[in-house]
Amino acid sequence: MVSRVIPVDPFDLVIFGGTGDLARRKILPGLFRRFCAGQMTRDSRIIGAARGDMDETAYRDMVREAIAEFGPSRSEACAVEDFLSCLGYVSVDARGDDGWCDLKSALREEEGIVRAFYFSVGPSPLKKLAERLRQHGLAHDEVRIVVEKPFGHNLASARALNEELARHFDESQIYRIDHYLGKETVQNLMAVRFGNMLFEPLWNAQYVDHIQITVAETVGVSGRGSYYDKSGAMRDMVQNHLMQLLCLIAMEPPARFDPDAVRDEKLKVIRALDPVDPDQIVRGQYTSDGAMASYREDVENAASKTESFIALKCYISNWRWANTPFYLRTGKRLSDRASEIAVVFKETPHSIFGIDSGRHRNVLSIRLQPNEGMTLGVTIKEPGPGGMRLVDVPLDMTFAEALGPDAEEAADAYERLIMDVIRGNQTLFMRGDEVEAAWAWTDPLIEGWERRGDSPKPYDAGSAGPDDAAFLINRDGRRWRRIKS
Ligand code: NAD
Repeated sequence: MVSRVIPVDPFDLVIFGGTGDLARRKILPGLFRRFCAGQMTRDSRIIGAARGDMDETAYRDMVREAIAEFGPSRSEACAVEDFLSCLGYVSVDARGDDGWCDLKSALREEEGIVRAFYFSVGPSPLKKLAERLRQHGLAHDEVRIVVEKPFGHNLASARALNEELARHFDESQIYRIDHYLGKETVQNLMAVRFGNMLFEPLWNAQYVDHIQITVAETVGVSGRGSYYDKSGAMRDMVQNHLMQLLCLIAMEPPARFDPDAVRDEKLKVIRALDPVDPDQIVRGQYTSDGAMASYREDVENAASKTESFIALKCYISNWRWANTPFYLRTGKRLSDRASEIAVVFKETPHSIFGIDSGRHRNVLSIRLQPNEGMTLGVTIKEPGPGGMRLVDVPLDMTFAEALGPDAEEAADAYERLIMDVIRGNQTLFMRGDEVEAAWAWTDPLIEGWERRGDSPKPYDAGSAGPDDAAFLINRDGRRWRRIKS
């Protein structure tokens, strides 16, 4: 099946941080894919803006290399050159006064050209950047700004940043990006929940035993050590990505699939989250496995108490989810790279097949990576004449197989979200009040372990995390699903 591509309006997209790692690995190769797909047209422009001096030719060379390394496996050389002809570069200091006039003259004033600024520069220049855009007359009322994570370090800083952005831009112009929301499967989760009669009647405390959300990474933190050590897994992953996934799983059906209807429902979930007791949180830190460095070596801080792993159990206090545990875990240097949401349903109230038939539960597994897709585990009779023995089998729907190779090629989250920015659709972006509510829930948990001086539990690099994380769920008579690539 080939997906229908509708071109977006022509745009001028300025990428502040256009020479950075994110721009080279994700944003520019993603835009190139949209160009090849015909969604970004030739009358659009991308302007890299960063601190370093560089001319247009050097910038295009840099992007050519980035596409070769991170772009689609089959890139036609002429398509690359056509794409590069849409690119420009301006040296701008986001905090200072240099380069702004050049940037202004690089932008088109014609009507019908969408103007967007992607803030991919790290947290410290954000405030100045917003200010400068207004000051130099670049930010008219129709422009959009895209703000990368981290959005604040705690509630106070997130609130201050929201206030600062609000001085220059209306909330309808601000796109706080969480690339997890751009994943095909995450959007499909909403399609499955609200586009079928099958699931929603069962999607509550009466039928769901518990929910697990796992984001497991094999990489460590080397290269990002100084940032990560001040952040940790709670701030870097739970407050944003896992929280967003939790919201989409737990929210009530919005009245419409529109930005405020969806975000209102997500906000209600965050606000209904109970505080978490310290004994329901396990923090871990990876140790060296001989071949690879330990966390403390990676961040060059021999006394670090920052967690590279966290598992916790939380509850949502509302009618739908009362007393249903949500188990969340995420970590670095784990055995496999795998992200999954698993909705584990209750057992049938009575087994007509007797105790020998075993215990069976339907599990809806929503895999975010690798092999995005969904699997519904159902119980059937084991084939053959051996009597009535039951067996669990997966009803598998891996999107790449079901929808053909185009689905896989189109699957990157960043490019999808950038196209949404150009279309002016904020549904998959976090609203300011959502971000603040998420910090309001995580801040007391972080303050709690900092006040107590808790140290994270060591775990072997390449393992499934600290043993205590297994105990967290096992003591409830449940177990984590296996982390499997
Ligand atoms: P990076 O350090 O590789 O690049 C930073 C870019 O910002 C460079 O182009 C630099 O020239 C520019 N810059 C910095 N200060 C500037 C200033 N004052 N004026 C003009 N330009 C300035 O960082 P990165 O990894 O590309 O990350 C960019 C943002 O994206 C960060 O907020 C980061 O948290 C976020 N992010 C990155 C990743 C990733 O995989 N790299 C993933 C998620 C989010």
